[in-house]
Amino acid sequence: MPGELSINLTGNLKEKPRDEKLVFGTIFTDHMFVMDYEEGKGWYNARIEPYGPFYVEPSMMVFHYGQAIFEGMKAYRTKDGRVTVFRPRSYLERMNRSADRMCMPSIDVYFVHKALKKLLSIEKDWIPSSIGSSLYIRPFIVATDPHLGVRPSYTYRLFIILSPVGAYYPEGFKPVKIWVESDYVRSVKGGVGTAKTSGNYAASIRALFEAKKRGFTEVLWLDGVERKYIEEVGTMNIFFKIADRIVTPPLDGSILGGMTRDSVITLANDWGMEVREEKLAIDEIYEASDKGTLQEIFGTGTAAVISPVSSLNWDGKVITLNGGHAGETSVRLYDEITGIQYGNIPDRFDWMEEIE
Ligand SMILES: *Cc1c(COP(=O)(O)O)cnc(C)c1O
Repeated sequence: MPGELSINLTGNLKEKPRDEKLVFGTIFTDHMFVMDYEEGKGWYNARIEPYGPFYVEPSMMVFHYGQAIFEGMKAYRTKDGRVTVFRPRSYLERMNRSADRMCMPSIDVYFVHKALKKLLSIEKDWIPSSIGSSLYIRPFIVATDPHLGVRPSYTYRLFIILSPVGAYYPEGFKPVKIWVESDYVRSVKGGVGTAKTSGNYAASIRALFEAKKRGFTEVLWLDGVERKYIEEVGTMNIFFKIADRIVTPPLDGSILGGMTRDSVITLANDWGMEVREEKLAIDEIYEASDKGTLQEIFGTGTAAVISPVSSLNWDGKVITLNGGHAGETSVRLYDEITGIQYGNIPDRFDWMEEIE
């Protein structure tokens, strides 16, 4: 246990942006949560302090060997003025699973959850209220030993920073065009694809950059061995609606288990839809499209929530869905999840936690 949480507030508050000006990830609030770790001592010096730069040595291990993990969750302001967070404990528990894979120390979820709630209550005036905007919460841990030579670091630092955000994609809820990647791969079984670790993104940037140059918003990854089975989208899990069934690839060792994915499966089951977690080959999707049974494709992730897909391009073969419009299940899921998040629909799964 890191002991007491110390709090040092700044008197120099920043100006808050207007909701309609918000984009994703460019503005940070006045304060952050920080805590240090040293082998033999555990986590210590837990503190809330002004957001700002910190001292690092160029030899800091995270720069060289990439021992870094992160999370991304959201806090909301409801219509009646309450402040809530979506499934915070589940995200912190996932952080511990990522830590384990990356040989990093686990956190005391109870303590960090309490510290996060304190930070949110200090920063609550930063939480926007318009639909589509929220306060993005970014916890992360980096290896801090000043050391060259590969081994797990003996010291780490955890931060939680906060950013008021609008839609993740400039398209908002509008459908996105996706490039099916058949050269580059993101991850393979046995690798680190199941961990929310920075290196997965480092590995993905080249493909995303090239897809964007060709006019696509995201990349759909295929499996790293055969380039045949569908894995996930850059920052999202992927779902298909084929012949009235919802299908998504299983969590079998190379993809990230999204909280939004889990919430979508829960909801679709609750609605009595048939949901299958099973391997899907890219050519099956094209066959379903030819047969006319492919109804919808959508991505799921905390940042965009539900992102309908309007088209896929796989080696020049193009599928267009719903005439470029969002499908009915995508719309229904988006409305239901955001309805629960903004407090307009009863929270029957106990997903929202209120901040005092
Ligand atoms: C974070 C992330 C997701 C989405 O997970 P959520 O918990 O729903 O936000 C999907 N894929 C990858 C690679 C991710 O890093």
